[in-house]
Amino acid sequence: MTYISTRGEAPALTFTQALLTGLASDGGLYLPDHYPRLAPETIRAFAGRPYAEVAASVITPFVGDDLPAGLLREMIDDAYAGFRHPAVTPLSQLDSNLYFLELFHGATLAFKDVAMQLLGRLMDHVLKMHGRRATIVGATSGDTGAAAIEAFRGLAQVDVFILYPHGRVSDVQRRQMTTVADANIHAIAIEGTFDDAQAIIKGLFQNQTLRGELNLSGVNSINWARVVAQAVYYFTSAVTLGAPHRTISYAVPTGNFGDILAGWIAKRMGLPIDRLLIATNTNDILARALRDGRYEVRGVEPTQSPSMDIQVSSNFERLLFEAYGRDSQALRRLMAQLSQSRGFSIDPGPLETIRAEFAAEAVNEQETTEEIARVYREAEVLIDPHSAVGVAAARRHLNITSGESPMVVLGTAHPAKFPDAMEKATGVRPPLPPHLAEILEKPERLTLLPNDQGVIEEFLRKYARAKIH
Ligand SMILES: *Cc1c(COP(=O)(O)O)cnc(C)c1O
Repeated sequence: MTYISTRGEAPALTFTQALLTGLASDGGLYLPDHYPRLAPETIRAFAGRPYAEVAASVITPFVGDDLPAGLLREMIDDAYAGFRHPAVTPLSQLDSNLYFLELFHGATLAFKDVAMQLLGRLMDHVLKMHGRRATIVGATSGDTGAAAIEAFRGLAQVDVFILYPHGRVSDVQRRQMTTVADANIHAIAIEGTFDDAQAIIKGLFQNQTLRGELNLSGVNSINWARVVAQAVYYFTSAVTLGAPHRTISYAVPTGNFGDILAGWIAKRMGLPIDRLLIATNTNDILARALRDGRYEVRGVEPTQSPSMDIQVSSNFERLLFEAYGRDSQALRRLMAQLSQSRGFSIDPGPLETIRAEFAAEAVNEQETTEEIARVYREAEVLIDPHSAVGVAAARRHLNITSGESPMVVLGTAHPAKFPDAMEKATGVRPPLPPHLAEILEKPERLTLLPNDQGVIEEFLRKYARAKIH
């Protein structure tokens, strides 16, 4: 399997090369040159199988012969053995035709763990094989940073530098990043928004000197390996509800478009997904883009679902690339417009292609709080604000379409990560699971830096251990 950049001017790579590279050198994102298809019988046979077994079947075709199959399987088994639920991502029911996929049973209580636990093992292995070190840099709106830090802490081959927007993540999210004592972990608070942090990360990758010097690598959802690992739970949940015999729809709380793109990939692989519903909070660039055909960046508004407080939705570039028939020249034009004038129009043909498979709903703060309260009242389940955005969007969509396919909402975080929002909506303050309660007591370690790429570069050069050989 070969990987190509959406912007067409970076070298084609193997799976493990794309894994270590993150963002392509032309500023684009890597995608496989084709999508492997799974036969309906193969998909049907996933029903009732252990999560790791399904994961191996879904992920292996994307790796090809780049890693020995036995070794990959071992890493997968190991990555998911640490989850606190034997099904890894169990499915529950909230209402008639409305299901809830619990993706938050990993170490840091958000769905990011599902991919990151595997990514950490893959990267460590590949770096050791080459006798190399890497410097992992990432921007986080809260959960990616914690999941990456947990997956990479203490590893000899990697240093991790995570940028997060100062004062714009929850206390639990921040403490998950700042209470880790391992010397290879660096939590950096940026005086700016998530989009500022993400722009700095993209800038670092475009500095070819720095990139080579420190062997920069990315673990944001621009990393292809993460997207693939997330495709797995679409398969496990869909077969539980009767796929491939039946079509299933998904509502996905969306920020950077990684999680929902994974659903689209699962569909390309042969999973009969009916509708992919993009659920956004008031930061609704994607909902506006689908409605008006204008992808237009506005200011970020802080909400109670901070991991979705995003305007520039990086993985959307991958969908655009496909919707434009893999025309990298068109993508370069759109992305140039985006950086020059903060927006672009999606041409009518590609827009229709996108609308044929996706829908979008934006959910405001009050609706989010009401949904948390409703689910607690009706189903006696506490759902976090991100998941609540998904549930509210799903109900609206089911009402409009009379919903023939069952709708699965992706439960992206554990309610204990957002105790203030939960208490406000339900009066209940969910406690952290015992293995995390200690972070509330531990000392914090972080560096506050200005929203300035030069300053960040200096900091990296000072503390990163990776050097070119
Ligand atoms: C990251 C995150 C999201 C958004 O996922 P994307 O892949 O960026 O679209 C939603 N909810 C939670 C809790 C998250 O951590």
